[in-house]
This record gives sequence, C-alpha cells and structure tokens, in this order.
Amino acid sequence: MERTFSIIKPDAVRAGHIGPILEMIEGAGLQLVATRMLHMTQGEAEGFYAVHRERPFFADLVKFMTSGPCLVSVLEGDDAIARYRALMGATNPDEADAGTIRKRFASNIEQNAVHGSDAPETAREEIAYFFRATEIVSR
Ligand code: GDP
Repeated sequence: MERTFSIIKPDAVRAGHIGPILEMIEGAGLQLVATRMLHMTQGEAEGFYAVHRERPFFADLVKFMTSGPCLVSVLEGDDAIARYRALMGATNPDEADAGTIRKRFASNIEQNAVHGSDAPETAREEIAYFFRATEIVSR
C-alpha cells in the first residue's frame, strides 16, 4: 500500500468537475483516506510550489492556485503514486493520453485540473503539508 497527495485545482472546482474526477479516481481503484476543501493563501501556495520558485511561470501559478477553493486529498492503493500520475496524464493537456483526467478536464498547461505527487518523498512532504496524521483514516 502506498499513499499519494492529490489536489483538484481551482479551475476544475469552479467548473463543477469534483464529482467526475473523484469517480475516475475511485474507478481506477484508488481509495480516498482524507479530503477537504481549502482556499490556499499566497503563502501556502508559494510554499507548496517552492521547487518552482525560479521558474518564469511561478507568479502566475501561485495566482491561479489561490484564485478559488480546491479539494486536497490523500489517496491510497498499490503503487498509488505512479497509478495516479498515469490517470492524471501529461502536464500539458495537448500531450495527455485519451482517458486521462487532464485530457478530459484541463484547459491548458497551467490550469490543468489536478496535482499528484511525483515520488514517495514528495508524497510524504505534501501530505504532511496539508494533513495531520489524525485526519487520515484507515480503510
Ligand atoms: P506536474 O507534476 O505535471 O503538475 O507538473 P510540474 O511539477 O512540472 O508543474 C507544476 C504545475 O505548474 C503544473 O501542474 C502547472 O499547473 C504549472 N506549470 C507547469 N509548467 C508550466 C508552464 O510552462 N507554464 C505555466 N503557466 N504553468 C506551468
């Protein structure tokens, strides 16, 4: 069993896509073990994406991630990190495979509907950034 961290980003929440995205997540055999709505502050978004702070799109990315509420979740399953990344599809929806979340719901390379951790260490860090251990259930 492995855990990964997911965000349904503000574009997808605004468009009313929480339901179908969660349906795709559960349909892929990943289980929700924690979730809540959150409107990120500028400081939270800057900290979360600190690895990208030198990139030219950083300010736009922070502005987008603070533009409305998102749904933060912890997902659990065998090989959850890689399986969720595969379900999400490529960062740029033009390059995302058919049947992926981003192919269906992303608008562009920035407003791309979902986030998922890319490795075990980042998954641990990202889960701890938004959830206390007592907020995560066992299933
Ligand atoms: P991910 O792991 O697929 O989410 O991609 P990255 O870690 O490379 O980028 C983090 C997030 O920054 C992406 O999901 C996008 O929301 C945004 N992003 C990435 N590349 C670009 C870009 O070239 N331009 C803009 N505006 N945003 C980007």
